[in-house]
Amino acid sequence: MVGNYSMIREIKEYAKKNNIPIMVDDGIDFLTAFIFKRHVTNILEIGTAIGYSAIMMALVHPNVKVTTIERDEKRYLEAVKNVKAFELEDRITLIYNDAFNVKLDEEFDLIFIDAAKAQNIKFFEHFERNLVPGGAIITDNLKFHGLVEKEEYEIKSKNLRGLVRKIKEYISYLKSNSRYDTEFFNIGDGISVSTKK
Ligand code: SAM
Repeated sequence: MVGNYSMIREIKEYAKKNNIPIMVDDGIDFLTAFIFKRHVTNILEIGTAIGYSAIMMALVHPNVKVTTIERDEKRYLEAVKNVKAFELEDRITLIYNDAFNVKLDEEFDLIFIDAAKAQNIKFFEHFERNLVPGGAIITDNLKFHGLVEKEEYEIKSKNLRGLVRKIKEYISYLKSNSRYDTEFFNIGDGISVSTKK
C-alpha cells in the first residue's frame, strides 16, 4: 500500500510536469466513493490520459474492471507503463483509438466521460447503449475551472468561449434528458451523475 501511494504521487507529478490534465483530488475522491457505495464493478472511461483515474478506480476493489480509451499515443503508452507498474493489466483494458471509432458490445454499470469537453453530448450518445439500466454516466469538468459561471464577455479567448458554450449546452442536455435522472455536484471541477432509468 505504501508503494502504491508513492507510485500514485509519481504519476501525479509526471502529469503536472507534462501539463497533462488529470482529475483533481476532490473529484477522484467523489468518483472512488461512488464506485464503492454503488458496488460498481464494470467501468468504461473515455479519456485515459496516463491512466491515473483508471488506476484509482481499479484500486477501489479487486472486483472492479476498467476499460479505458485514449487517442494520444504518448499518453496511451505512459498509461500502459503505469498500469503495468500497478500489476493491474488483468483488470484495466487500455484501448488506443479515438473513442468515436470504438464500438463495444459489452455493458457497463458506470461510464466516466473525461475527454474532449466540447464533445460530451456526442460521447454520451455514442456509448449510452453500453450502459445497463440503473447504471450511471459521470462527467467531469462541468465548471471548467470556473469559466462556466462567468459571463461570456468576461472570457477573452474565442476558443474558450466556444468551449464554455458547449459545456453549457451539455448541462441543458442532461437537465432535459428524461431517460436519465441527473444530479450536479459542486465538487472538484464540477461533476454530473446521470442515472439511467
Ligand atoms: N481521466 C484522466 C485522469 O483523470 O487521469 C484524464 C483525462 S484528460 C482530462 C482527457 C484525455 O482525453 C486526453 O488525454 C485526451 O487525449 C483524451 N481524448 C480527448 N478526446 C478523445 C477522443 N475522442 N477519444 C479518445 N481520447 C480522447
